[in-house]
Amino acid sequence: MTLLEVRDLHVDFKTRDGLVKAVNGVNYSVEAGETLAVLGESGSGKSVTAQAIMGILDMPPGRIPQGEILFHGNDMLAMSKEERRKIRGAKIAMIFQDALSSLNPVLTVGYQLAEMFRVHQGLRRKEAKAKAVELMERVKIPAAKARVNDYPHQFSGGMRQRIMIAMALALEPDLIIADEPTTALDVTVQAQVMELLADLQREYNMGLILITHDLGVVADVADKIAVMYAGRIVETAPVKELYRTPAHPYTKGLLDSIPRLDRKGQELYAIKGLPPNMATVPGGCAFHPRCPAARDVCRTELPPLAEVGDGRGSACHFWKETIDDRAA
Ligand code: SF4
Ligand code: MG
Repeated sequence: MTLLEVRDLHVDFKTRDGLVKAVNGVNYSVEAGETLAVLGESGSGKSVTAQAIMGILDMPPGRIPQGEILFHGNDMLAMSKEERRKIRGAKIAMIFQDALSSLNPVLTVGYQLAEMFRVHQGLRRKEAKAKAVELMERVKIPAAKARVNDYPHQFSGGMRQRIMIAMALALEPDLIIADEPTTALDVTVQAQVMELLADLQREYNMGLILITHDLGVVADVADKIAVMYAGRIVETAPVKELYRTPAHPYTKGLLDSIPRLDRKGQELYAIKGLPPNMATVPGGCAFHPRCPAARDVCRTELPPLAEVGDGRGSACHFWKETIDDRAA
């Protein structure tokens, strides 16, 4: 059975600018042992979708007017608060970008890790502490035993992010959602943390949703990718196919803006313009003001996410030309 399936999810926010449809009919799924990368610029709805899954849509208060979030086949949106609370943390864990604000600065990391086992598994202090050390070793923190009583600020950014991964892993969840887990780190450390996450995911056979704005960091670890723009998925494909023959001009632009060693010295491509303000999303294809391939129909008609072969989808009226143009 599919581990997690998001079906036709909509999320609205009431703001001073009016009703913002932050997520507008999103579908995706993750199997056990699979990594889905959800890619998009800020405001694309990728984080809001994750918050809806976690049941933490509260800042500002969001509303889910439509959709289902099936976890092991059960709709979490139809569950009681208590049932959802049990899933959160224990069955689905989340890792955020900023470990420093997610960890409590006045408690040692060992205490915070041990607390997970004390609260959720009723372990005694000593056993819980031993488990904490074990976990720190699992996420490859050097001299874990000696560092278990250190405070979060005593660790480097990369090591703190490893501690966040340890916290997420503590209860051996079925699914981890990582929202920009390496964005705050420098490039080498980014790769190490991403590799660790991928290794642990395989070892535990978990599902992993990797939310990022950076197509470069997910290439080696993702199985499939969903690209989001202005609250919708605009392209979805297995990772290799998406890199080889993107079927949406936005994806193409994102790929062309990744720095590449073999193009050293060449000016880096940048998609023109900015993502839309979500209170005033352009009509038709929301990407049309920035799209080099836009035509009249793009301004008036919303392209549906169409099946483009091999289980891939593209929400572009001219997906065929986009693929051909790339292959040529
Ligand atoms: Fe560009 Fe039109 Fe395709 Fe939108 S539908 S991505 S504007 S070509
Ligand atoms: Mg975000």
